[in-house]
Amino acid sequence: MGTEVSVYLWHEDSAKGQQALDAVFVEVARLDQMMSTYIEDSLISSVNRDAAKHPVAAGDELFQLVERSLDISVLTRGAFDITYDSVGQHYDFRQRLRPTEEVVASELQLIDYRLVKTDRHQRTVHFLQDGVRINLGGIAKGYAVERGVEIAKRFGVRNARVTAGGDTRLLGDRLGLPWMVGVQNPRNEGEVAVTIPLEDEAISTSGDYERFFIEDGERYHHIIVPSTGTPAGEVRSATIIGPDAVMTDALSTSVFVMGVDQGLRLISTLPDYEGIVINAAGEMYYSDGLRPPD
Ligand code: ADP
Ligand code: MG
Repeated sequence: MGTEVSVYLWHEDSAKGQQALDAVFVEVARLDQMMSTYIEDSLISSVNRDAAKHPVAAGDELFQLVERSLDISVLTRGAFDITYDSVGQHYDFRQRLRPTEEVVASELQLIDYRLVKTDRHQRTVHFLQDGVRINLGGIAKGYAVERGVEIAKRFGVRNARVTAGGDTRLLGDRLGLPWMVGVQNPRNEGEVAVTIPLEDEAISTSGDYERFFIEDGERYHHIIVPSTGTPAGEVRSATIIGPDAVMTDALSTSVFVMGVDQGLRLISTLPDYEGIVINAAGEMYYSDGLRPPD
């Protein structure tokens, strides 16, 4: 997944605990092998290669994640869009490469989740136009940590914390105390902007500081506004808390794109979800359910 994965868990039996730990990492590796666009023989790569020619069988898991992604596109009015990759693929943050304006302009017409069709009976994915690509980078880590916790449970684990990049799923508490999850200061690595006590929940942060480079004072990072094909500039980070890591992951990316007002308005319509957004001036905004007392 091009990111760090960490797992904490407890088990009365240390051998079983070790087995659980190993199994979680095996599961994450399995999902990476399925959903990474960097792996040429991954299932998603075969979808990207062939789905414009004919419907491609995506298998249950990938199919469901694509469908959920499309649902979230509707929910966010297109702020979340897995076809962002038509433009996104032209970025290389390590090599400081970005697409030219011409490339963005020509690829932009391919960013549209409505160009992705799914067939629930056949479990196939089909692209309506040549050149469409999908990338689950904004949702797959949430799924991976959700699965990681599921796997740990099968070994009898009841307290765990599974993290992949900015996505964390907590199982139970931290042996009698809540888990303390920090939201990083977006401009000072190692400094925590706020710490939140959590149990049995998921928390995801999308930031402009994970994958980026700065060129002529301009910050180019990995979260793309689907309507313009350029990195979102309104906020520095968006954190979402809620019961399902797939949702918190996709929503953190979405709210990052939507900005403070629109983003928090969306969160206020979702009763189980809360959010913290840090804007371009470094100011912190909370959704209603989290707002500290005045
Ligand atoms: P992180 O990868 O740091 O956990 P996110 O969950 O916000 O952060 O995911 C960012 C990733 O989402 C990008 O690297 C890219 O793969 C993907 N992405 C970028 N823009 C969009 C978008 N508008 N809609 C859906 N996915 C996106
Ligand atoms: Mg996300």
